[in-house]
Amino acid sequence: MKYKHLFGPVPSRRLGISLGVDLVPHKVCSLNCIYCEVGRTTNLTIERKEYIPLNDILTELKDYLNNKPELDYITFSGAGEPLLHNGIGKIITFIKENYPQYTLALLTNSTLLYDENVRKEILGIDLLLPSLDAVSKKVFKKLNRPNSKLDNEKIIEGLIKFSKDFSGKIWLEVFIIPGLNDTKEELELLKNAIKKIAPDQVQLNTLDRPGTESWIEPVSKNRMEEIAELLKPLPVEIIAKFQSRNKIRSYHKDVEQQIIETIKRRPCTDKDLSEMLGIHINEINKYLSELLHEGSVTSQQQERGTFFCAK
Ligand code: SF4
Repeated sequence: MKYKHLFGPVPSRRLGISLGVDLVPHKVCSLNCIYCEVGRTTNLTIERKEYIPLNDILTELKDYLNNKPELDYITFSGAGEPLLHNGIGKIITFIKENYPQYTLALLTNSTLLYDENVRKEILGIDLLLPSLDAVSKKVFKKLNRPNSKLDNEKIIEGLIKFSKDFSGKIWLEVFIIPGLNDTKEELELLKNAIKKIAPDQVQLNTLDRPGTESWIEPVSKNRMEEIAELLKPLPVEIIAKFQSRNKIRSYHKDVEQQIIETIKRRPCTDKDLSEMLGIHINEINKYLSELLHEGSVTSQQQERGTFFCAK
C-alpha cells in the first residue's frame, strides 16, 4: 500500500524511530513561524475540521501497524498543526484500543490548547511536545506570525491547564531566534510562564537548516548555553545536533542517494523533492538537514523558497 498520510519512520533527534502521522495538508497551520522548515503557511487558520478523511488515515494505520513494525513512537506531526484535524481524538482511541503496545507522541504548536475539548481529546497520548517561543504579544506576532484570532495569554493558560490534567510526559520546546526571543526580558517572561506549565523537560532548539525567512541566523553554542543557564532551575536541555546517521536505525542510504542524484541534475526545494520522489516533506527535510551538516549539500534562498544543490 502506498501511504499518503504516514511517513518514515523518520530518524528523529528526540524520538528515535518515529512513524509520522500527518493529519493536515501542506500547509495548513495556525501559525506562520519565521523559522518554519516546511515553508510558508498557505492556510493560516484555527478552524478545526476533517482536513483528510478520517477513514483514509485509519486504513493506512491499520495496514501499517498490522505488520507489527518496531517503533519507538507513533508521532502526530507533519507539515502543519495536527490539532486542526477534528478527528485526532478518534485516531488516538483507535490506536490505543487496537495497538496498545505503541507509544504515542504529539508535536503541536500549542495554539489550540486553550480549547477544553481539544485538551480532552488528547489526554490519551503518552508524550506531548508543545512549542512555546514567546510570551509577549510583540515577539509572538513577529516570530510566530499567528492567525489574528489567537491570544498568547490564553494559549499559555491552556498549556498550564493541560499539564495539570495530563498524566503523560511533556517536553516543551523553545525555538530561539537571535534578536527576538533571546532578550533578557523575553527570557524572563518565558521562564515564569514555563514554571507554571511545569513540563518534564524544556528543550532549547535553534535553526539547523534554512527556515522560511533567509535572514534568520542560528544561535551559537555558547549563547545557547548562556540561555540554558538563565532558564535554570527549569529542567533545560539543548537539543543536541543530529547524531551520526550511521547510528540511526531508520536512516536509509538509498533515500539519501535519491536526493543527491536529483539535486545534482538541478537545484530543488524540499517540496519539489517531496513531489518528485514521492517521499513526505518532513522525511526529505530530515535527510537534507543531515546532508547540510556534513557539507555535501548547499542551500540558496530564491524567490520560490530555499533551493538545495549538491556540492
Ligand atoms: S514551525 Fe510548526 S507551528 Fe510554526 S508554521 Fe511551521 S508547522 Fe506551523
